[in-house]
Amino acid sequence: MDSNHRVIGIDIGGTFGRAMRGAVVDGSAALAERKDFFTPRTSQEELIESLVTMASRLAEGARRDGPPVTALGVAVPGLVDEGSGVVHRSPNLKLEEVALGQTLQDRLRLPAFLVHDASAGALAEYALGAGCSVSDLLLVVMGVGVGSAVISGGRVLRGAHGTAGEIGHICIDPGGMVCGCGGRGCVETFASETAIVRRYAIAAKQAILAEEVIAKATAGDPAAARIWSDALGALATVIATAVALVDCELVVLAGTMGIPSVALAPLGDLLAQRINLVQLPRVTVGALGADSALLGAAAVAFERGGMGHPVSEWRSSRRSAADPA
Ligand SMILES: [Zn+2]
Repeated sequence: MDSNHRVIGIDIGGTFGRAMRGAVVDGSAALAERKDFFTPRTSQEELIESLVTMASRLAEGARRDGPPVTALGVAVPGLVDEGSGVVHRSPNLKLEEVALGQTLQDRLRLPAFLVHDASAGALAEYALGAGCSVSDLLLVVMGVGVGSAVISGGRVLRGAHGTAGEIGHICIDPGGMVCGCGGRGCVETFASETAIVRRYAIAAKQAILAEEVIAKATAGDPAAARIWSDALGALATVIATAVALVDCELVVLAGTMGIPSVALAPLGDLLAQRINLVQLPRVTVGALGADSALLGAAAVAFERGGMGHPVSEWRSSRRSAADPA
């Protein structure tokens, strides 16, 4: 990839973290002009204004310090039609039936491409991160929401309606808590940040952050430990199902920035208890941290903007850097 080619990559937020994160990304995957905004959740209009403001500032910054950007990629949670750029529904944001790609393209006068956020994260980890030496991986995001994406034989599986990997809204407990999607007892009502906070507030009559609940769980607080164990159990159940269906060799956990590895350690055993007959995958934390979805969105902007094949090129350069012989 030509490092003079530059695009904007933005993770709109809502799954990996609460913030909208953006950067100018060049053909060698180097990031510049980083920006973090709070992701507005009050209205669709406010969210679009924030996206336009962030992208405009990134484009201006790029013009000042080097080659201008030539496309924009945005990672969006929920039901996203990547071909038409329409967001059908994003339960954690206020987006519903909106032609976001076209709107951004018209406002910014730049080709704009949408990508499902977990798919973007999986592409980036596959190209540049924890998955750069495997061909089959499952990326699971434990963040504000719970999502996943599958890379099978080097390709992202999107399915007939582009919703493959939406494990966050699989029902674990039909009589359970109401979820943001309108259903009950979804995985997100156990394992998302919001659910952990809510469950602890009900159990202990105390409103604290999800990271604090997890810290209390590892320190032996019984209510926190039960909530965290239920969260990991719900995740392990859906991950085991996904592994049985797609036979991935690696599970990459993303969106786990605030979670210490000691708290995630039981997941391996919980998976082993739930996976029989098929090969148990390795479980690892993503290598790209909070940048994975914006890097994946940038890769999609390069590819669909006709500037090359970043995923295969980044991957081969990472692999030759790791093994110069
Ligand atoms: Zn749900």
